[in-house]
Amino acid sequence: MTLKCILCQKEMQDQASGMKGDQDPYPMGGLAFETFGHYGSSVMDSWMGTKLTVCICDECVRVNKHLFYGKGKLDARWEPYKG
Ligand SMILES: [Zn+2]
Repeated sequence: MTLKCILCQKEMQDQASGMKGDQDPYPMGGLAFETFGHYGSSVMDSWMGTKLTVCICDECVRVNKHLFYGKGKLDARWEPYKG
């Protein structure tokens, strides 16, 4: 199964596909973010019992790193890994 970046539509392989059970998306070359909704959203609230997941490719994370909010020590590797 392929997953698409929510920003650029790049396709990423889902490493969770083929695993047993109902696995959350696991994009190779990107990150998956999930929400259960919350008060204040006009789209989805936590009482609905649903979960949404979006995937973002690593390049879109790097380009938009100023838009991410984090807590604690941020260990993100903002530059591409060169092994
Ligand atoms: Zn992207």
